[in-house]
Amino acid sequence: MLSPKAPVIIVGAGPAGIVLALHLAQHEVNVLLAETFTDENYLQQVPRTGSIHPSTLEMFDDLGLYQHLEPRGLIAPTFQFWDRDQGGHLIAEFDHCVIKDDTRFPYVLQCERLKVIEQAMKMLRTCDNVTVRMGTTLESFEQDGDGVDATFVNEAGEREKIRGSYIVSGEGGRSVIRKGADIAFEGYTYPDQVLTVSVVYDFDKLHGYSYRNYISDPDQWANLFKWTQPERWRVHFGTSMDDDPERLLSDEHCQSQMQHFIPTGKPYEIVHKHLYSSHQLVAATFNKGRALLTGDSAHVNSPIGGVGMNSGVHDSINLGQKLVAVLRGEAGPEVFDRYTRQRRHVAVNHVKTITERNKKLIHERDPQVRAKNHEMLARTANDPKLARDYILRTSLLTSLKETEAIL
Ligand SMILES: Cc1cc2nc3c(=O)[nH]c(=O)nc-3n(C[C@H](O)[C@H](O)[C@H](O)COP(=O)(O)OP(=O)(O)OC[C@H]3O[C@@H](n4cnc5c(N)ncnc54)[C@H](O)[C@@H]3O)c2cc1C
Repeated sequence: MLSPKAPVIIVGAGPAGIVLALHLAQHEVNVLLAETFTDENYLQQVPRTGSIHPSTLEMFDDLGLYQHLEPRGLIAPTFQFWDRDQGGHLIAEFDHCVIKDDTRFPYVLQCERLKVIEQAMKMLRTCDNVTVRMGTTLESFEQDGDGVDATFVNEAGEREKIRGSYIVSGEGGRSVIRKGADIAFEGYTYPDQVLTVSVVYDFDKLHGYSYRNYISDPDQWANLFKWTQPERWRVHFGTSMDDDPERLLSDEHCQSQMQHFIPTGKPYEIVHKHLYSSHQLVAATFNKGRALLTGDSAHVNSPIGGVGMNSGVHDSINLGQKLVAVLRGEAGPEVFDRYTRQRRHVAVNHVKTITERNKKLIHERDPQVRAKNHEMLARTANDPKLARDYILRTSLLTSLKETEAIL
């Protein structure tokens, strides 16, 4: 028999897991949050970007998290599309002011994933009903009609079994829970790797770039984003899968990429380099009995458009509301099927669609198609109604509206 105090076990303290933990803790649900990283290396993870869209800022505000993030980020009301071919020019600028009546946050907050999890973890540590187990890795789990038994390897290297009411995977793409529940992860891996180079340079003051830029180029697409504290710009370049990773990450190669991007005649101050591959994968279901998936464990996508973390947070708030209702006896477990219907719809029809379209747009090689795409972007940005529809979609506000109608 399961104790009524048995916690919801959340595995993974990335943005999706930690937001779910906060939501449940604030609704008086006992939580056990387990994370492979230790207290010592939790904030040493490779920096990933974090363009936080208005829909997610609203959720962070409801959790009490936004007020801690805003002073650590950059407010970015606009984003731009550039054409790098033939010298480079601005194609279109979108301004979030067109959605000022749709949200209390008509902008994106540029605030990296690490800052989000650092602040959320600080808040979580103050909650009496949350146990955080750092340096603790899920190995396997079993479920019965009553609860789940999860086997972890703890910081001391010992195997430990913990009983919970539900187990939620916030483990990211390589989820042990998804594999253990035998849930297919369907889709594909892109045939190119993404090279990320962080530099100290004034792209805004010297060249007129906004804080978020998507750069179309038939030879090599790029994205350019500004970050603060410390101040730096991160450039993402598409590269070939056949290229040697060591060569791609060499100083010489990164400098030549930057000089090709914008020639300065002197070396860039490079502060970080990183190489990663990207995928479009969606889990066949986000719930199987008492095993539930949120964030990247349920769907991974290309980062072009910055919606991965955002949609993971949206999953967690949706799932959190349903877990609270079930644990209070106000709803039956069939609500988790609705969770899959709602959030899988978003993963496939919004997150995947937006990021695939962005990638195609900046990667297009055919001159006629490029010209047509660019004309369409400029027309959309310059028409307030079209621009509003476009930004409601890219900021995932439309996706949240649609999920309400999914029963
Ligand atoms: C270069 C890059 C740029 C990006 N930019 C953006 C952006 O601008 N906006 C955006 O919305 N998204 C962006 N994304 C995507 C975003 O980073 C991910 O979608 C997001 O981090 C997923 O959050 P998550 O909590 O689901 O998983 P993760 O962030 O991957 O966290 C998973 C956590 O689980 C832990 N874990 C894993 N397995 C176990 C286990 N078995 N036991 C215990 N712990 C475990 C891991 O250590 C980790 O801490 C970007 C991604 C990349 C690569």
